[in-house]
Amino acid sequence: MVIISNYELEFNKENGRFTVVVGAISYCPLCQSLLVYRESVLRYGKREGGGRIPYVLRKLKCTGCRSTHRELIDKFAPYKHYEADVISGSIDEIITCGDLDSEDYPCETTMTRWKEWFDLNKPNIEGILRSTSHVMLGLDESILATKKPLLEEFRRLRSNWLEFILQFIYNLGNSLLPINHCGSSP
Ligand SMILES: [Zn+2]
Repeated sequence: MVIISNYELEFNKENGRFTVVVGAISYCPLCQSLLVYRESVLRYGKREGGGRIPYVLRKLKCTGCRSTHRELIDKFAPYKHYEADVISGSIDEIITCGDLDSEDYPCETTMTRWKEWFDLNKPNIEGILRSTSHVMLGLDESILATKKPLLEEFRRLRSNWLEFILQFIYNLGNSLLPINHCGSSP
């Protein structure tokens, strides 16, 4: 799987779907070779009001190791139905169960499991950020020297912290541990 942030969405009036128009070449997270188009796949993004938005995404094949990778746009968290901003909103408690007056909202169990998933992966995320971010992100040495949790810094500095961190982790060939619950999808 690769996650991209450089793209535009083109709305197709005939079928009501959003097609992803990619702005950059993707590379294999396993061997860094060029990825080429293989097929298009439909994926739905779930919003907090219960609406589902259809997106046409690409499946890519590696010209080096021949592995296939779904090209996920950064709106999506891997293996989750809901879009990433709904998940980070729940983790940050911007979206809470108190707001949820519709049965179409993510259920309380789903939101609790997102928090469990996040807590489970926190040490892993922190480790990856700490070992690679000074090179990849050009972070100031002074931030690294303070031993402040980098993950918490990103959460403080960026509203789209989850999208940003997931892209960073998955495109380097790393992954997060899954947790089985009603909001997950393969
Ligand atoms: Zn490859």
